[in-house]
Amino acid sequence: MTSMTALTSGRYRRGELHEFEAAGQPFMYLVSAGAIFALDEGANAVLRKLGQVDMSHAELAQALRDAGYDRADAEELIRELLFVQGIVSDAVRPAVAPSPATPPADFPLQALVLNVTNQCNLACTYCYEFGADKIATPQGKPKFMTPETAKASVDFLLEKSAGHQAVHITFFGGETLMNFKLLREVVLYARGRAEAQGRTIGFSLTTNATLLTDEIIAFLSEHEIGVTVSMDGPPDLQDKHRVYKSGKGSYAVIEPRLRKLIAQHRTRAITARVTLTDGVTDVIRIYRHLKDDLGFHEVGFAPVTNSGDRDYMIGDGAMDEVLAQFHELAAEWLEHALRGEMHGFSNVSETIGELIQGVNKSHPCGAGLGLLGVSPSGDLSPCHRFTDADTHTLGHIATGIDADKREDFLSRGHVSAKYECQTCWARPLCAGGCHHEAFVRYGDTGHANLHYCDWIREWTDACLRIYGAVSVQNPDFLERFAARKGLS
Ligand code: SF4
Ligand code: SF4
Repeated sequence: MTSMTALTSGRYRRGELHEFEAAGQPFMYLVSAGAIFALDEGANAVLRKLGQVDMSHAELAQALRDAGYDRADAEELIRELLFVQGIVSDAVRPAVAPSPATPPADFPLQALVLNVTNQCNLACTYCYEFGADKIATPQGKPKFMTPETAKASVDFLLEKSAGHQAVHITFFGGETLMNFKLLREVVLYARGRAEAQGRTIGFSLTTNATLLTDEIIAFLSEHEIGVTVSMDGPPDLQDKHRVYKSGKGSYAVIEPRLRKLIAQHRTRAITARVTLTDGVTDVIRIYRHLKDDLGFHEVGFAPVTNSGDRDYMIGDGAMDEVLAQFHELAAEWLEHALRGEMHGFSNVSETIGELIQGVNKSHPCGAGLGLLGVSPSGDLSPCHRFTDADTHTLGHIATGIDADKREDFLSRGHVSAKYECQTCWARPLCAGGCHHEAFVRYGDTGHANLHYCDWIREWTDACLRIYGAVSVQNPDFLERFAARKGLS
């Protein structure tokens, strides 16, 4: 409880926040807490004044009374704003932790990404498995994961996640379905092991869809396995980079398979993940094709990971065009939400989900925390993108996690270790961006992804406005959205 003397003796200034407006109402996004508050007229006026000058308690209380508050309400608002750090005083210690704490070293594992093979039947020109950005694959490592390694991985996950009722395995490649035999064996084994412990285990996989068969689709549906298809859009765009080693495009092969997958796999959402590259930036046309023509439930977009000098990289002008199209789809997302309908643009859905949860990240993602990647050889890595890179090995499935290496990875990746992020209002959600992208771009997993900052801040602001508008005009939708996405 803050003492009256402390309250009245200090100088007040604005806390670290990002102001925005939605549905005609002012809001603040509090950086210290990663929380959103709607501002009434008085609080808004005071924050504006505090943005220009520091104030004593008496001046602040007077400004609130001028804005229509009685004495008791003004004091109450000052306490509330102090508590959430919308304002700060040099005489009052903040009640909320000023920066996100690192989870303890024994933070339980919740998910594994199994790279069941590092082989692929396509040779996409931008792929980090084959492209010039690929972290070198050491010689002599297996190309396919064995059942022994996979089962040891399942046992490892169940042991290291003790206390978590539900855990998750994602299958990844190379092309995951080149090792479907193993995938099937792992699902059955893991289900049995989890059930014997009275726990649940979920599964998902990423695939290029070229090897989907009726049998595989039936298995994926029966076992409620979430599917993400890496693809880039209609034939002219898909076949630009997503090609066989002969150079032949893959659209004609995957199209009938996708139609079957979407028609017959009814137990989980089917998502498309699009990699944006030079010439593949027509976001709206791609979205319409994947969502409306093919029937994907969700479509998400990400610019290609690259070191900054590849010819498939998107130029600045094209990136602005991408963002403009993102805004157009975001406006559509909002219209749907106000009508109470879900929209499939997952770049908005994911950020809205994080805003609902009030995330305040110490690290950009779960890599090395609740999530680890396992390579075909059983090496552990922070996530699937680092597998088979000896420089980033965090242990082995047989010997466990190398605590020192993991600690080093996590301390370098902590948001508080990234100088530029300390003054950035978007850090509760961004936390410096993908560790792998940072390594490819800057040679250091702990480097902030500075090439995307403007983009990240503009996009975060757009999503805050959507959240604010829905919270004012159709608040029930946010509750339904959270329930549907399984957000706590
Ligand atoms: S990487 Fe850039 S956008 Fe992200 S938190 Fe750091 S400074 Fe902000
Ligand atoms: S490090 Fe990058 S690729 Fe790996 S889980 Fe995090 S965000 Fe994803």
